Amino acid sequence: MPELPEVEVTRRSFAHAIEGATVQTVRLGKPLRWPLGCAPEWLVGRRVLSVGRRGKYLLIGLDHGLVLVHLGMSGSLRFAPVLPAAGAHDHFDLVTSLGTLRLHDPRRFGAVVYVDSLDDPQALKLLGHLGPEPLSDAFDLVQFQAQLKRHQSAIKSVLLAGEAVVGVGNIYASEALFLAGIRPTVRAARLNRSRAARLHAAIVQVLGQAVALGGSTLRDFSSASGQAGYFQLQTMVYGRAGLPCHVCASPVRLLKQGQRASFYCATCQKP
Ligand SMILES: [Zn+2]
Repeated sequence: MPELPEVEVTRRSFAHAIEGATVQTVRLGKPLRWPLGCAPEWLVGRRVLSVGRRGKYLLIGLDHGLVLVHLGMSGSLRFAPVLPAAGAHDHFDLVTSLGTLRLHDPRRFGAVVYVDSLDDPQALKLLGHLGPEPLSDAFDLVQFQAQLKRHQSAIKSVLLAGEAVVGVGNIYASEALFLAGIRPTVRAARLNRSRAARLHAAIVQVLGQAVALGGSTLRDFSSASGQAGYFQLQTMVYGRAGLPCHVCASPVRLLKQGQRASFYCATCQKP
C-alpha cells in the first residue's frame, strides 16, 4: 500500500511538469472508491495551478476547484506527454495540454474526487480529521506530546490512527519506533517527554529519509515518471522477523497488534 513517502515522491515527480497545463479531456474507467463528484466535462478547460498533498491525498489545484487523488491500496500515477491506450486497470486519465495524468489501480480502492474548495463538505469529510503533517512545521513537538498523553492504547496503534500525526503507516511506524528505542506495545500515555521527543524526531527522520530515497516498499510502486522506489532495502525491523537486528544481532520479533504486523527488537526497544 502506498504510504505517505510514496505519495510525496509521486507528487514531486509530476507537480512541476503539470503546472500551467489546461485540461483537454477526462476519461473515466471503472468506478473507484467514490464518484468523481462532477461531470467529467466540467473539468475541461480548467488550468492546473499546483499539486499539493495532505496526508495521502494529492491535491491538484485548478483555477476553479481541486481534484483530490488517493492511491488506495494498489494505485499508482503516471504523467507523460503521451501514454499508451488505457488498459483494464487504468481508471482515470486527466488529459492536459502538457501530458496525461493516469491512475492505474487494479484493486480500485483509490479515488479521484472533485471539490469546489477545501471547505466543501466532501473535502472536509476526507481531509478535515487528518492530524498534522509530519514533514511540516505543523508537526509540533509539544502538541505531539500532549496528544500521546491523551491515549491509553499502544503507541503503534496511536501512530496508525493518524490523529497525533498523519500518514505514518505500518512500515514507517515500525521503523520510527525502532529508531526511538520504543516497543510498539508501550501505552502512548506512558511515554515521558524525552521518549516522546525521540519518537517525534524519529518519525521526521524516517519519513524524510524515505522521501529522499524515492519512496518504498510497494511491490508495484513506481513514481509518476516510472522510477521504482527502494526504501525497503533500508528497513531496520519491518519485514525482518527472525533476522538479526542490524544494531545488536538479536532476532527481530513479530507480533500482531490489531490486524497489523509489528516488528521490533526486544533488546533495542524498551517497554
Ligand atoms: Zn537490536
